[in-house]
Amino acid sequence: MKTLLTYINPLKRLGIREYSYKFPTLTVLSAVFLNEFYAYVLLRDPEAVGTTAIFVFLLLIIYFAFRDGRKGGFIAVFGTISYYFYIIFTRDYSGDRLIAAVQTTIFLGSAYLFLAWVIGWLKEEIDKLIELEANGRKRLETIFQQLPVGVLISDKDLTVVQSNNKLNEILGIKIPLGFKMGSTMLLKSNHNGGKTKPSDSPLLQAIQKGKAISNREFTFQKNGDTRHVQVSASPIQDRNNDIIAAASIISDITEQKKLETRKDDFVNMASHELKTPLTSIKLYTDIIERKMKQYHDKELENIIEKNQEQIKRLQILVDDLLDVSRIQTGKMTFQKEIFDIQTVIRDTIELTKEAADGHKISFQAGEPIPVFADKFRIYQVLSNLITNAVKYSPEETEIIIKAEKKDKEVIISIRDFGAGIDPSEHEKIFERLYQVFDTADKKSPGFGMGLFISREIIKKHKGRIWVESELKKGSTFYICLPLADNKS
Ligand code: ADP
Repeated sequence: MKTLLTYINPLKRLGIREYSYKFPTLTVLSAVFLNEFYAYVLLRDPEAVGTTAIFVFLLLIIYFAFRDGRKGGFIAVFGTISYYFYIIFTRDYSGDRLIAAVQTTIFLGSAYLFLAWVIGWLKEEIDKLIELEANGRKRLETIFQQLPVGVLISDKDLTVVQSNNKLNEILGIKIPLGFKMGSTMLLKSNHNGGKTKPSDSPLLQAIQKGKAISNREFTFQKNGDTRHVQVSASPIQDRNNDIIAAASIISDITEQKKLETRKDDFVNMASHELKTPLTSIKLYTDIIERKMKQYHDKELENIIEKNQEQIKRLQILVDDLLDVSRIQTGKMTFQKEIFDIQTVIRDTIELTKEAADGHKISFQAGEPIPVFADKFRIYQVLSNLITNAVKYSPEETEIIIKAEKKDKEVIISIRDFGAGIDPSEHEKIFERLYQVFDTADKKSPGFGMGLFISREIIKKHKGRIWVESELKKGSTFYICLPLADNKS
């Protein structure tokens, strides 16, 4: 019954471009027979076919043009006009009556043809558009299901309206369509070291704040295994910029996390293992250096000096690697005391001077500026910034260092007139292992760990570190530390 209704109801066939010729032909023929039966048998008046012949057949033309396009409409018109001529010739029309009937039939036929053409053409165009949209939707749905990331779309009332199979696979549960978010959690998960609250959901925040939220990390248990996911969400707006929905992208980063942990463990272990033999090599080289002095052999002294330089570089590298792993495991410790920051700046300049290529390092100390900090770690930061200023600026240029009190803070600036840093890199250079230049361009190659370590040290002192720089004009690195009175 349902199939029959779908077959007959033209509205149900919108978008289906299968146009029948049998159905209109059979229906029009049946209508002719019924009409003749009605006139001859029921009314017993062959002349009484006129009104039904017009109205019933006009309806059939409209119906078939709408159901089967121009094809259906034209078949219905052809059947109707043939029937009209059949009536004219079987009802003994003659003379003026015959001429008038033929003229009327030709006029009606033209009007019917025009009507069938317009309705049929419109119907075909509507079908084409619907089919195009349906195909587009199918294509998108296929891509949506094939994506390597999970996708969840909710309307603005936070009801899940769409999700893909990858999402179910990542989470290990089937997301029920129509699930309302915001009150209950779909999964027990952790975020920022604590239990996830419904308000942590990036999707919820995207809808409430109207802003894109990117790369929030969550962990949860799946089959006894800890899984890590990264979640981003964006609001979807209508033409008036009103939020109507939001889409969330969920990527499984468990393997990446495992790899990172393995890599960090390896670096940690390797740097620890390197530290001990390196200390012994340094010790033995120091002894050889001392003993060599009595032989006054210039060539050997030169070799030992080069050796010492390489050992120093290795020591810096191993110390940096150890610091990076201490930061990552939260094991970097600080011994804080009150001291004048200017004395540490002066000492650092003294110690780094020998590495400078004739650079003129200027610093004017003033009134004492007391800070409550770890002296060695602050020395480490300053030394890294000054060494960088030397490394990335031409020989014999100036490096200006300043320390100024401002409110309850001290701002230290280290300015060079070297290569400079593009504004797009100002944030990135503080990331772990990030380097702007090819190592080959450098006078003394590094590994991009210095600024990362410096930032972490300054952060632990409740301070800030940043850079202002323009390419080819030089850079100024700033460190801001709270003054000693302000210690917390
Ligand atoms: P590296 O060991 O490579 O010097 P850092 O973490 O100290 O590592 O610095 C990261 C990157 O920042 C460097 O590779 C360099 O490209 C850039 N950089 C740091 N200081 C300066 C500076 N004073 N002038 C220009 N570029 C700099």
